Amino acid sequence: MATTIAVVARRVGRPCGVCSLPAATREWVEESLAEGSSISSVSRQLGLRPGRESIASHMKGGHLRADLEERVLRHQGLDTVSIVGRITEIAQGHRQTVLEAEESGNGNLAIRARDAELRALGALAAAGFDTERDAQAQVLTRRIANAAVTVAKTDSAVADALLLALDAAGHPDVADLLAIELSANEMGTP
Ligand SMILES: [Zn+2]
Repeated sequence: MATTIAVVARRVGRPCGVCSLPAATREWVEESLAEGSSISSVSRQLGLRPGRESIASHMKGGHLRADLEERVLRHQGLDTVSIVGRITEIAQGHRQTVLEAEESGNGNLAIRARDAELRALGALAAAGFDTERDAQAQVLTRRIANAAVTVAKTDSAVADALLLALDAAGHPDVADLLAIELSANEMGTP
């Protein structure tokens, strides 16, 4: 999917600085990002061609190789969803440890695990979530929204329907932002 979008974007819209690189260089860029290299350092090592903005828009535009995308976004801090999901998993893991430690009478371990669980829950609360359920709902919502935007980018009827639905739901500001995002890809009409 990501490749298809990248190919279409290159043909229809402005050429993407990363997608236009020779295949081996593009692969090196994406793999470096997936391993945690910063956008700046990747750009610098290529003599600033492509520049940081090009690399960022390549990442945000859904051009990344599908199997690298999640790792890249996580490393580059663009994926708050996975952070929330991870904290939730950590809290659940610690809670399991608390229960097991209490059952086996290991008081010290139970206290340490409870402290760890509290820290994870504190991080969730600081991120504005009252319950783990809220956090998980947010993860789900974001994934659905990402999927909707991905489809809207390739299908103008879906894009229009999405914009109308946002308007009708009383979120014209969100519709405007989405319209800008979609038009940046210059893929309005199929
Ligand atoms: Zn690209």
